Amino acid sequence: MSEHTSSAKQFEYKAEMKQLLDLIVHSLYTHPEIFLRELISNASDALGKARFRMLSSDEGIDKSGDLKITITVDKESGNFVIEDTGIGMSEEELIANLGTVAKSGTLGFMESLKAQQKEGQPLDANLIGQFGVGFYSVFMVTDEVTVETKSAEAGSQGWRWVSSGQGTYTIEPIEREARGTKISFTLKEEFKEFAEEYRVEQIIKKYSNFVEYPIMLGSRQI
Ligand code: ADP
Ligand code: MG
Repeated sequence: MSEHTSSAKQFEYKAEMKQLLDLIVHSLYTHPEIFLRELISNASDALGKARFRMLSSDEGIDKSGDLKITITVDKESGNFVIEDTGIGMSEEELIANLGTVAKSGTLGFMESLKAQQKEGQPLDANLIGQFGVGFYSVFMVTDEVTVETKSAEAGSQGWRWVSSGQGTYTIEPIEREARGTKISFTLKEEFKEFAEEYRVEQIIKKYSNFVEYPIMLGSRQI
């Protein structure tokens, strides 16, 4: 359902991204629910950064509204949305953060997986816990992800990033009121359980119990 308008620019992922995505999808297939832990962890990091900036005497920062995470699911359509009121991303940050594998965690994860594969060992699920495999784990459970974001820097423009995790992504400017990031996607048929509130709550209690910010699920705080 993404809108690829004429203003959307297309980008290629940096080298190794395709390989990273394949590795993540193949190594996480026994734990697809990890995607939620990773998205909540990113939202929580982004809220922490916003809080830090808001507490400083920095005038150039949007201080409006609460610091919180909101998750909305629809079991009929399989739509999943997670939104935070955190630090958000500029266009440059979107490209640097969601289009490269420069981060040590993901590179270490790839190296460990490759070493195991070379030795002919089965992939070790514990590796998932050792490395923050991050945002890309969402491509376990969906074929296309939309990220809408606006940096907390006062006067920022909103941006929409869309990718199917297949080597390219698009970025276009959008109108966005709120500071922070909204990530939305439709779950693959076999993962529609994650669009059920009771299931989402179960996973949050298991993996994300210590998040410091309120998590709203539909209209309830959990
Ligand atoms: P990590 O969290 O280990 O850095 P990820 O793959 O999970 O790796 O995320 C990559 C980067 O994308 C983050 O470091 C952050 O800069 C950016 N990012 C991801 N999700 C968000 C979000 N909700 N708000 C702001 N930035 C985000
Ligand atoms: Mg992360």
